Amino acid sequence: SRQERAGRLEGDLQIRDVTKTFGAHTAVDDLTVTIPEGSFFALLGPSGCGKTTTLRMVAGLEEPTAGEIWLGRQDVTRLKPYRRPINTVFQNYALFPHLDIFENVAFGLRRRGIKNVRAQVEDMLGLVELAGYGDRRPSELSGGQQQRVALARALINQPKVLLLDEPLGALDLKLRRQMQIELKRIQTEVGLTFLHVTHDQEEAMTMADTIAVMNNGRIEQMGSPAELYDRPATTFVANFLGQCNLLRATAAPAGDDVALTVEGRRWAVPAARSSAAGTDVWVGVRPEKLRLTAAAGTAAPAAGGAGTTGSAVEPGVPAGANAVEGVVTDTSYVGVSTQYLVRVPWGQELVVFEQNAGVEGPVEPGTDVVVHFDGGHGFVLDAGGDGVRG
Ligand code: ATP
Repeated sequence: SRQERAGRLEGDLQIRDVTKTFGAHTAVDDLTVTIPEGSFFALLGPSGCGKTTTLRMVAGLEEPTAGEIWLGRQDVTRLKPYRRPINTVFQNYALFPHLDIFENVAFGLRRRGIKNVRAQVEDMLGLVELAGYGDRRPSELSGGQQQRVALARALINQPKVLLLDEPLGALDLKLRRQMQIELKRIQTEVGLTFLHVTHDQEEAMTMADTIAVMNNGRIEQMGSPAELYDRPATTFVANFLGQCNLLRATAAPAGDDVALTVEGRRWAVPAARSSAAGTDVWVGVRPEKLRLTAAAGTAAPAAGGAGTTGSAVEPGVPAGANAVEGVVTDTSYVGVSTQYLVRVPWGQELVVFEQNAGVEGPVEPGTDVVVHFDGGHGFVLDAGGDGVRG
């Protein structure tokens, strides 16, 4: 019907100017965000940034000091938790130990007085790939399986929004990675809004279609994982999502480019990749976008001898690349890639990742190199006189 369609279009979860204070401490600071219906949305940030408090206000476990929370056309700000079409999956599963898996999943239906639950429970167990586990006790399942029961138990209530509070925090790394893929598959299959809270950037990037990075009770930046990684808007976001080299520079417009002076060196980055308004800036570049080249006038430092091939350091810096000379201070072989630290003349150590594609050995510490990158791989942020070195 028309009403149903209008409802679907307006199923977004809206957090409007929400503030939460505990005594003198502001945990959530005038937060406004719309979480589109059907999206997998992650609130990502360090411990204490206010993400759990935000989630608890959406669940109704905490009342905002100011502001409103809307689900579609309904103001849910003052609704009791059980009156909200919202369910939460916690890190500690909270399964009933004395009930078997079937009854754990059936719980929400039974409480509502629904009699014929078998088909729905079997459906849910199938969705989370636990068909046939119905008569086991929670203690007879692995952590990952228990987490999937918790998910089934929440989903069977057909909430409009599912809240996930560090749901995979108790699992080991390998299982966590499997469950990330699994959660994403289930979200796509059921099409519900998932609001996921985590401090784990890899977890957020693997699962979410939109990430809001929180810091000090506010959202620093919101976007797709790729947008946040490729074009962070602040140094906080640049550092929180993966590793990033940040170099202090002065900037001047130069046609389609921003001309940069980095400790006397002339660099350029496309103007489209700069969000800086002032002249005092940070130049950011991810470790895997930096390349190492043999220093000019020195032989390629290969194990086989001067000038032979077989070194990971290729001679010559491409024309137009942004470059700085340095010396390798640390080499760490990490299988698929090698991580280098390269000290540049002003004392900063740049992190460089080189893919280990061939059989050539890594560049030894002490080797003189040139570090360079294509300007299109960098980005420029306002430094705003914060005076902190990268
Ligand atoms: P974590 O990842 O550690 O859970 P978080 O980002 O989820 O961190 P919150 O739990 O939302 O952070 O807490 C935000 C701030 O509010 C913290 O400084 C915390 O100490 C404070 N806080 C949270 N709950 C309360 C409370 N009930 N009473 C007092 N202060 C609180």
